[in-house]
Amino acid sequence: TSFAELKLAEPLQKALAEEGYTTPTPIQAGSIPYLLEGRDLLGLAQTGTGKTAAFALPILDYLLRHRRPAALKSVRVLVLAPTRELASQIDESFAAYARHMKLTHAVVFGGVGQGRQVEATRRGVDVLVAAPGRLLDLVGQGHIDLSALEVLVLDEADRMLDMGFVRDIRRIMALLPARRQTVLFSATMPQSISDLAHSLLKDPATVQV
Ligand code: AMP
Repeated sequence: TSFAELKLAEPLQKALAEEGYTTPTPIQAGSIPYLLEGRDLLGLAQTGTGKTAAFALPILDYLLRHRRPAALKSVRVLVLAPTRELASQIDESFAAYARHMKLTHAVVFGGVGQGRQVEATRRGVDVLVAAPGRLLDLVGQGHIDLSALEVLVLDEADRMLDMGFVRDIRRIMALLPARRQTVLFSATMPQSISDLAHSLLKDPATVQV
């Protein structure tokens, strides 16, 4: 499979060529077609397999096909990640793949002042990458609105559960519209992850590498 065969939009193909990506990795070749169809997905993949692009590229393709401004304080696509390092990396990947399209994006995590994060999300964003605790703080204070969310990604879900974020994740889920696309990536599949997947995903495709 090539990226051209995956039918990703031209601005994305161009960015991938510039990144030096020639061939999709197995998790990308397996996941991207389902995600482009709008299916929910359970992805089993370790870090280093190219899983970030596996969800970022079809999400950017979706945003290109459904262009509209995000409403004030609102988020169209939310990516939850366990740590600030991972959240920052995901945000940077979105920015790189979106370099030939218009994208508003922001990243929020704890351990730093919230002023800049509030400012970055105030006008609304297409893509927000967030650690769960700080996201809930900002939503609770009325700085971020998740009621119009279109796509949710949980990245490294097993690590988020190991770090004790299950209640935060449940609280975030309760704020989201039922009609959305949901993607869950995990490196391992313990019972707690299959329970979480079962409660969050609707008729998911499963891709394992
Ligand atoms: P990830 O598993 O998402 O952390 O990605 C691991 C590394 O692989 C990152 O440095 C990506 O930039 C790189 N990468 C992802 N997909 C491809 C691809 N199709 N071709 C070449 N490099 C890639």
